[in-house]
Amino acid sequence: MLLTFLRRGSFGPFFVTAAAAALLLSVSAMASASPPCNPGDLDGNGQVDVFDLLELLENWGSDGDTPADLNGDGVVDVFDLLLLLEAWGPTPYAAGGFPDRWISGGPACGAEPVIQVHEYNKNFYILRQSLCTNFEAPFIYLIFGEDKVLMQDTGAGGIPIAQTVYSIIDEWLLRNEQESIELIVSHSHGHGDHIAGNSQFVHQPFTTMTGTSQSAVRNFFGIDDWPNDIVEYDLGGRIVDVIPIPGHQAAHIALYDRETGILFTGDSLYPGRIYISNFSQFVTSIGRLIDFTLDNPICWVLGTHIEMTNTPGQDFPFGATHHPNERELELTVGHLEELYGELLAMNGVPQYKVLDDFIIFPLSGAATSASGNGRTDDCCDRPKNVFELRQAFRALENR
Ligand SMILES: [Zn+2]
Repeated sequence: MLLTFLRRGSFGPFFVTAAAAALLLSVSAMASASPPCNPGDLDGNGQVDVFDLLELLENWGSDGDTPADLNGDGVVDVFDLLLLLEAWGPTPYAAGGFPDRWISGGPACGAEPVIQVHEYNKNFYILRQSLCTNFEAPFIYLIFGEDKVLMQDTGAGGIPIAQTVYSIIDEWLLRNEQESIELIVSHSHGHGDHIAGNSQFVHQPFTTMTGTSQSAVRNFFGIDDWPNDIVEYDLGGRIVDVIPIPGHQAAHIALYDRETGILFTGDSLYPGRIYISNFSQFVTSIGRLIDFTLDNPICWVLGTHIEMTNTPGQDFPFGATHHPNERELELTVGHLEELYGELLAMNGVPQYKVLDDFIIFPLSGAATSASGNGRTDDCCDRPKNVFELRQAFRALENR
């Protein structure tokens, strides 16, 4: 409500004194990206404070592209100041950071580790499998509560994922002076590139596996009415919401971590090719996510691959094992809204559509077309259905 008022209201000019302006110059170097769930935290230090205020004042009157333009109306003015003051104090979400770059494969494959481990903050880790080990190069997540640590996905195979994860857990236990913690091995969905490391976790101590089929996922999380029910999963002082989102695959779920405000979207939204197996299911699922975000602020949207370059609309070739100038991993709720808007605009007729940060890629255009002639456009050389896609995968594996 206030936001709407501030965007539309009218206030007189605001002046920055020369003294304040001089003071401001000294803090400019602290600027860094802030999560979209808390725009007032301009320096990303976990609270909206005097440093953010100074940074905003330093950018006063600027019409350029600056995070200090909190309401995005093209000028840093009193409306932005009021928004910042409204958000004053510690942010309700645990802050964290992303690496400058992720490992991105060849040409010098020997030069990078097979798994990159990144500590977003002390209770949340992001792992990336090297493109040199598998072109899918999936991301794997570790979310620590007090009693349980939830792992999302086990990778595409060929990496010592269990060894890596257990050593992260050992370090965490040491730091927290704790004897043990239960590892919950769960999955964004049941495709091979997300479950291939499962065998490494079988019969390991303090380890529970959710299973990969839709019924196993339903049973484990206690989802009675699939896919309509959203259930809570308690890690001990940390709640994760489990949201069924079939469409890319039948057992696909999204997770929302209330501590960091991160929405995990698996293969249903990431900076790359969003393969859709069941279009109508997928649209309903993305609608379910949109509904969810109305009550739950989203700091970041994290999927499980990167296939886009940092040039808008340009993806890496299918199967590429080197990603020079890769786009960053993190997306925002704006991307989720963009996806939903585009899907609705297709009006039941699946279409291939290239957007700046991701590509909508239905695998079954004609089959699920409402009008009967909903062929996906033949813009480019790409698989037209799941069968062709699998063939392409196999061809790559046998290369
Ligand atoms: Zn995948």
